[in-house]
Amino acid sequence: MPETLPKLRTDLVIRHMGQAYVVKDPLSKDFFKLDERTGGVLYMFDGLHTTMDLANALDIDETEAVLLVNRLSDFGFFAPLSKKKQKQPWHYMMWPVVNPSGALSALVPVAKVLYSRTGLVIQALIACIGTFVFVRHISLFYTSAKSLLDPAGIVAAYIGVLCISLLHESGHAMALQAFGGNVSEMGIILLILVPGFYTDVSDSYLLRSRKQRLIVLIAGPLLELTGWAMLVLVFRAFRPSGFIGQFVLGIITIAGLRSLLFNLNPLVRTDGYFILEETLGVTNLYEKAFSDKPPGRLFRVYAFASVLYSLFLVLVAAWGAYKAVTRSNVWAMTWLFVFVLIALFSVERGRHDKAA
Ligand SMILES: [Zn+2]
Repeated sequence: MPETLPKLRTDLVIRHMGQAYVVKDPLSKDFFKLDERTGGVLYMFDGLHTTMDLANALDIDETEAVLLVNRLSDFGFFAPLSKKKQKQPWHYMMWPVVNPSGALSALVPVAKVLYSRTGLVIQALIACIGTFVFVRHISLFYTSAKSLLDPAGIVAAYIGVLCISLLHESGHAMALQAFGGNVSEMGIILLILVPGFYTDVSDSYLLRSRKQRLIVLIAGPLLELTGWAMLVLVFRAFRPSGFIGQFVLGIITIAGLRSLLFNLNPLVRTDGYFILEETLGVTNLYEKAFSDKPPGRLFRVYAFASVLYSLFLVLVAAWGAYKAVTRSNVWAMTWLFVFVLIALFSVERGRHDKAA
């Protein structure tokens, strides 16, 4: 006797987008991506259909249908998962502080300009000019950056990184709000006990337009790069010294490195990765690339490049540590530590998908 399927929670937000279904659990704030087939049978979970109906609709046997039901049940689709207070790992703790949607609504006119076609082109232009000036005068920046290797320099650079991170997060958040999404949470994150900011922009999953989802992803790094480029020009023109100089240099060196090595790099799971996924129209690129049977050549190439890149990062860090130790330079060591922190800073919350 086939069993009746459980009833789907009525508070779940389900969107059919392209070749996938996105399900948002408003209680846990989790997002789930289901493939077309699985998403297409969600309507059967109405308390009337049976496991047999499900098996027939998907052309699978009943045992497999039961397995699918169990998996969806594990996602909390039928009854909200008890929100047992998860203990946060000491090196990665987050506390929501404010709901920024009010402030962001006020900024919508600004965001509409920033993320219009003209706004995007102007930002990209500023970023290009900044990059050009930076490359032309790289020795100036290299020599000046040595001033960061003292306690005041590290503090100034750290404050600089916080500011540019806030700008980066605001970029994502403003774009999402301008497209009608909701940013309900901003807070403090402690990465290895060092405080930083985070913004939850996971609602971008619910934007139907792929172009808009892409702009939300690009908005953060682009605004950061625009700010970075302006500071490059300011430093080149005025050569500020003292704390202000260290603050500006901290942003120029760290934000630049961070974008290049982490944030925009599709081999690391931050913005660049999600931009690539969105551009290719692929979901869970990383999991698929490292699965037993990668679905295509592209995935194999991705897995290979990703392993190579991790090796490269380990080598860079090891080389830095070696230099720091052989020269017994405490500040070089501290600097290396800061570098690792920056890597962690690039890990953003907000886009977590689970596949069924
Ligand atoms: Zn970002």
